[in-house]
Amino acid sequence: MNLSDDELERYARHIVLPQVGGVGQRKLKNASVAVVGAGGIGSAVIPALAGAGVGQLTIIDSDIVELANLHRQPLFRERDLGQAKAELAAESVRRLNRHVEAAPRSERIGPDNAEELLAGHELVIDGSDNFATRLAVSDACVALALPLVSAAGVQFQGQVGLFRTKPCYRCFVGDAFDSDDCDNCSDLGVLGALTATVGSFAALLAIESIVGIGGDQAGQLHLFDAERLSWRAMRIPADPACRACGSI
Ligand SMILES: [Zn+2]
Repeated sequence: MNLSDDELERYARHIVLPQVGGVGQRKLKNASVAVVGAGGIGSAVIPALAGAGVGQLTIIDSDIVELANLHRQPLFRERDLGQAKAELAAESVRRLNRHVEAAPRSERIGPDNAEELLAGHELVIDGSDNFATRLAVSDACVALALPLVSAAGVQFQGQVGLFRTKPCYRCFVGDAFDSDDCDNCSDLGVLGALTATVGSFAALLAIESIVGIGGDQAGQLHLFDAERLSWRAMRIPADPACRACGSI
């Protein structure tokens, strides 16, 4: 698919980069990405991907905007309180870039529907706020052989990594967190700007993976300490007994 004059002008600062060029920009245009969670992480991921020209975005979130979201979710405004996040996020994508198709899914994703919701995409970015959802999304990505960027932030700690089937996110977390009552930021708190930092990193990983920039980051977890303001990376070993990827 060729780029129109309008797109060539819009993406000029991308196209001038030798690592992207017209070829990379067309890869972005042809890409279809599912974003799980239009919260703090999603507020950074969604505009970054829409601005970058990712052709199709599916936004999956069953929540409505609450007042306590606004300190870290700049996708939304005070007037949006009580409205569905997925719909609002899709609307903001359309306002930002008319070359991007945004499909909102105001559904709660879980083990029963994750494969159906995620199938057909090229990459998944998970910015949901609890382990049960992250594990359900990861298991579906393993089953569908989809690359997954998993990102999370709580209190002053952020983590983000790219997974390609094996090792998977479950190799890192284990099976202890499948219940719904595990910790999330509504109980523990989160510094607002932390989720933006982690979300921007997740968007970078996704864009570089789609375009094919740099070495493959799969299987590395990047950890951010917002008190020390430092990043470190660790390699996740594949767990041979992993319930999701162990038999692959
Ligand atoms: Zn695994």
